[in-house]
Amino acid sequence: MKLLVPVKRVVDYNVKVRVKADNTGVETANVKMSMNPFDEIAVEEAVRLKEKGVATEIIAVSAGPAAAQEQIRTALAMGADRGILVEHDGVLEPIAVAKILKAIVEKEGPALVILGKQAIDDDMNATGQMLAALLGWPQGTFASKVEVSGEEALVTREVDGGLETVRLALPAIVTADLRLNEPRYASLPNIMKARKKPIEVVKPADLGVDPAPRLSVLRVEEPAKRQAGAKVGSVQELVAKLRNEAKVI
Ligand code: AMP
Repeated sequence: MKLLVPVKRVVDYNVKVRVKADNTGVETANVKMSMNPFDEIAVEEAVRLKEKGVATEIIAVSAGPAAAQEQIRTALAMGADRGILVEHDGVLEPIAVAKILKAIVEKEGPALVILGKQAIDDDMNATGQMLAALLGWPQGTFASKVEVSGEEALVTREVDGGLETVRLALPAIVTADLRLNEPRYASLPNIMKARKKPIEVVKPADLGVDPAPRLSVLRVEEPAKRQAGAKVGSVQELVAKLRNEAKVI
C-alpha cells in the first residue's frame, strides 16, 4: 500500500510574522521556513503505518519554490521513501494544490493521502477536502486516530462536541489534527540517508494544471494593538470597574 503525504513549506511557527511595508503580504525574505507542523504529524503517521507493516511506500510531495526540497528532505529523513517537488514560484491556492495532488494521485495510485488539517500560513483548511471532492474519495478530517485494516480505515475525528469515528473505504483522504501523534526528530544517520533518496521535480504544467490564483489579496495588515490592561486590588474594585467603567454588569 502506497501512502502520499503532501508537505507545505511555511514560515516557521516560532517566527514573529511581520507584514511587508507595502501591505501586500508577509515578509518571507531571510525568514526561517519549515515544514507545516500538521504535515510533520501526517508524515509521522505515515511512517508509523509503514513500521506496522500496513504501508509499503511513502511519497512526500510539496508544491512550491525550489527551496521546498528542504521540507521534502525533512520528510525523507523522518522515513518517507521518495519525494516529488512540483516547482512553482507564485502563489498556490488550495484549489491549485488539490488539482496538482489529484494528478499525482492518478499517476501514483496511493491507498491513502494524509495531509495536515491546515497550513499555518494561510489557515485555509481546504486542500484535503477539495482533493477528496475532486477525486470523489471519502475523507476523515481532523484525525486524532487512524487505524487501517484491509480495505478500510477507521478514523477518529476531533469535532466540536467531542470525538466522532468514521469508517472509510480505501482509497481515502485523511487530514491530521494536533493530537494524532508526536512527530519524531530525524536522527543524524537518517538525515544522511535522506540525501540519497530520490526527489522527482515536475512543473504544474507537466501535470496539466494551471495554478493561476483565483483570489486577489487586497491588503494585509497587522491586527490592532491591544490596549494595556490594569491590575485590580480586590473583587470589589473589579466589580465596580465592570459596573461603572466597562458598564457590562
Ligand atoms: P490548507 O488547505 O492550505 O490549510 O492546507 C492543508 C494541507 O494541505 C497542508 O497541511 C498540507 O498537507 C497540504 N498542502 C497545502 N498546500 C500545499 C503545498 N503547497 N504543497 C504541499 N502540500 C500542501
